[in-house]
Amino acid sequence: MHPDVKRWRQLQSLERLDRELEIMRLIPTPTCCDAAKHYPAVTFQVADVEGRRPTRGYWHAHMSESLARRYAVGPDGSVWLSAMPEAKFCPFCGAPLPEMVLKEPIPKTVSVVLDGGYYCSTCKERLYSCMCDPPASAFEPKGRAETPPR
Ligand SMILES: [Zn+2]
Ligand SMILES: [Zn+2]
Repeated sequence: MHPDVKRWRQLQSLERLDRELEIMRLIPTPTCCDAAKHYPAVTFQVADVEGRRPTRGYWHAHMSESLARRYAVGPDGSVWLSAMPEAKFCPFCGAPLPEMVLKEPIPKTVSVVLDGGYYCSTCKERLYSCMCDPPASAFEPKGRAETPPR
């Protein structure tokens, strides 16, 4: 392989890594204390999507994959994280988790999945190579709107 091509591929994968970190940071986490900001033990996840709009989300308390396989089992026997109860408080400082509302309008850069989990409708890529903003980033804490009200 030509050294320029090799270098270009390296840069491309570094860029992708940067974007992957940025995507992780776009997923809402509690901002009540430094521990919650640094260790994402609780994140906001999208539960339902209707048409092109995520309609409902919930605060998800993460557990290890092996525990999830044992405990978070849905009615069909598959691992089903949304079967877990919603988190209500920050596990580090005990502050109540904020009520989250949809950004209005939803940013056009947010990934929307309409086919049940194969392709992203925003960029038309397969989900594993989609680099759009995560669906959960369409939500923000109530009363702390980043987008000015219309
Ligand atoms: Zn906290
Ligand atoms: Zn996408």
